[in-house]
Amino acid sequence: MAGVQFAEVRKSFGAFPVIKGVNIDIADGEFVILVGPSGCGKSTLLRMLAGLENISAGEIRIGGRVVNTLPPKDRDIAMVFQNYALYPHMTVQQNMGFSLMLNKAPKAEAEKRVKYAAGILGLDALLDRYPRQLSGGQRQRVAMGRAIVRNPEVFLFDEPLSNLDAKLRVAMRAEIKELHQRLKTTTVYVTHDQIEAMTMADKIVVMHDGIVEQVGSPLELYDKPANLFVGGFIGSPA
Ligand code: ADP
Ligand code: MG
Repeated sequence: MAGVQFAEVRKSFGAFPVIKGVNIDIADGEFVILVGPSGCGKSTLLRMLAGLENISAGEIRIGGRVVNTLPPKDRDIAMVFQNYALYPHMTVQQNMGFSLMLNKAPKAEAEKRVKYAAGILGLDALLDRYPRQLSGGQRQRVAMGRAIVRNPEVFLFDEPLSNLDAKLRVAMRAEIKELHQRLKTTTVYVTHDQIEAMTMADKIVVMHDGIVEQVGSPLELYDKPANLFVGGFIGSPA
């Protein structure tokens, strides 16, 4: 059980502020999408939550626990990247089990978890293949499998579908939503694609130039955009 909070979070690269005082409250089990144009700070926020980037000011909490000083491995999150970052010389089974092996999980337990994740993702028949022998959608599933086996409190996705063709992207949206409905793991998902945000999110956080412009359900943003930026971006009259 873990919600996530960003409280007055700031980040500068050198003298250049890119996150300018962000407050976001994510409930346990919620599927939240951070959306906004390229360069607005979405990945930076996600990387700070994951511990891949330090924060300059403020506080980040997971399950009520302040995590912004903890190393990534102590944050109980698992991240799925845009480029999948699969190990080319490892099979699907080995790719999915690798982090468990690093954490010295017993072999039987690791195998059980990989089998479970493979079952959920429809990868059972592909466990002995190498990444080069997989389609784009299958690679994406392996990347998700690597996150699932860790059974984290929070899933983080950074533009996971942007390397896929349009048809597959639509199919994978539905798969990710089904996965969330099944596991109910708190999810923070970054995209620059408004349609992805409107069709997948419980709650959308609209970002622009390092600040949060509005937070709401897809319907709330569509019906009552807070300003012209949100209205224009979401595609409804402001
Ligand atoms: P988004 O994911 O919304 O496209 P990013 O979070 O990647 O945006 O980037 C936000 C801003 O921070 C951009 O202006 C980007 O150039 C800058 N930025 C990101 N990472 C670094 C870095 N490591 N060093 C300097 N500037 C960075
Ligand atoms: Mg990004």
